[in-house]
Amino acid sequence: MPKQHDDCLFCSIAREGAYVHKGKGFVAINDINPKAPVHVLVIPERHVDTFREVGAFDARESKRMLEFIAETAEKVGLRDYRVLVNVGESAGQTVFHLHWHILGGGPGSTADVPSAVALAEVEDE
Ligand code: AMP
Ligand code: ZN
Repeated sequence: MPKQHDDCLFCSIAREGAYVHKGKGFVAINDINPKAPVHVLVIPERHVDTFREVGAFDARESKRMLEFIAETAEKVGLRDYRVLVNVGESAGQTVFHLHWHILGGGPGSTADVPSAVALAEVEDE
């Protein structure tokens, strides 16, 4: 089992969440507060605080992580979608366990999806 932080929300979810997709070392869940018709989070089981530390994944894991993102999007029925990572608090990161947002208009949809997650909320205020 990869290194985990006891007090980390996404470490707990990676252990026992309601997955929409699961692969070796990675899980995908629905975002609790969706910003698009389909809003899925891809979470590595290994705890890494932010994308800045992405070098903690070796070449094979990094490739698997990217492929898992594409597979997850396909599995939830998206052809067109956005993939987004908020890196650091002022960029909108609120959970400090690396995760990738997949945002889409839903299966077969051509609806535009938000270009940003947390930043879009700030602009709305
Ligand atoms: P970020 O702001 O980039 O760190 O993204 C964190 C995301 O996690 C937000 O979009 C939240 O809505 C989402 N989130 C927070 N808690 C949960 C949870 N328990 N289950 C699913 N998604 C969550
Ligand atoms: Zn964690």
